[in-house]
Amino acid sequence: MATLGTCDRLQHPNLELLLKAIPVVSEQNTSYENFEARCPLCQHWNIFNRASDLKTYAPIGGLEVSCHGCYKQIWITGDRINPAFEMLLFDARAFWNARRYMQCILTSVQACEVFMAAVVNTRLLYRPFPNQRSLTLFNDLSLLLYERTRRHTFVAMRDLLLRIVLDGLAPQDLDEARLIITSLPQRPPEVPRAEILAKASGRLQEDLLRLANSTCNEQRNHVIHKHAYRPTATQAESVMLEAEDIVFSLKHDLGPDLEFEDYANAPPGRNQ
Ligand SMILES: [Zn+2]
Repeated sequence: MATLGTCDRLQHPNLELLLKAIPVVSEQNTSYENFEARCPLCQHWNIFNRASDLKTYAPIGGLEVSCHGCYKQIWITGDRINPAFEMLLFDARAFWNARRYMQCILTSVQACEVFMAAVVNTRLLYRPFPNQRSLTLFNDLSLLLYERTRRHTFVAMRDLLLRIVLDGLAPQDLDEARLIITSLPQRPPEVPRAEILAKASGRLQEDLLRLANSTCNEQRNHVIHKHAYRPTATQAESVMLEAEDIVFSLKHDLGPDLEFEDYANAPPGRNQ
């Protein structure tokens, strides 16, 4: 599991001085929303929320915080640097271990949705960016793509991903990307299984079919809707394992780099 060490991302100008004076936590647990850490002074288990307490979503390479138990300053470090969809999969496993099977299913399926959005964004925006470094245009197109897809259900997002991959949509710069994004349909038409069989082969075909055949979103809906279905351990595990299979296999096929940071400083190159 990837983590950030104190040397990877300095968040304080006098790191060495601080490390001498401020106790460093050695026991922590990080999730998509929170950074939890035991205070080395009073042993209090702190839960720092990234949005409200830390006020940053960036991975914590090192940060001075105040313990909620003894109110002394402590240094937190060693955060995960995984993409959001992987953090959510880790959270789903933690929910399963804690026997919170409803949350496990919700988070597993959410991880798939976040992953699908990451692939679409990478293909249509991140990869073309190094060939046309206009941040203004990039931000405009990000907003436009978000507007076009924000109401997409799991199934619609899946059809969009399949369409992009099977048609080999790969804009070479942001002007090309704009043409594609502005012509995206309100609801992507269903992609027939036969088209996956015809246009993809080998491992990619197998992995796209796994995504196309998944019904994990329907199981998620049972949990979300009015009757708030409470799944068994086996049902939750099945959804969790399927989500992991989908995300990790397709990340291998379609990634591995699926975040803007992977492309922000990359040299110009061919989007393929
Ligand atoms: Zn403390």
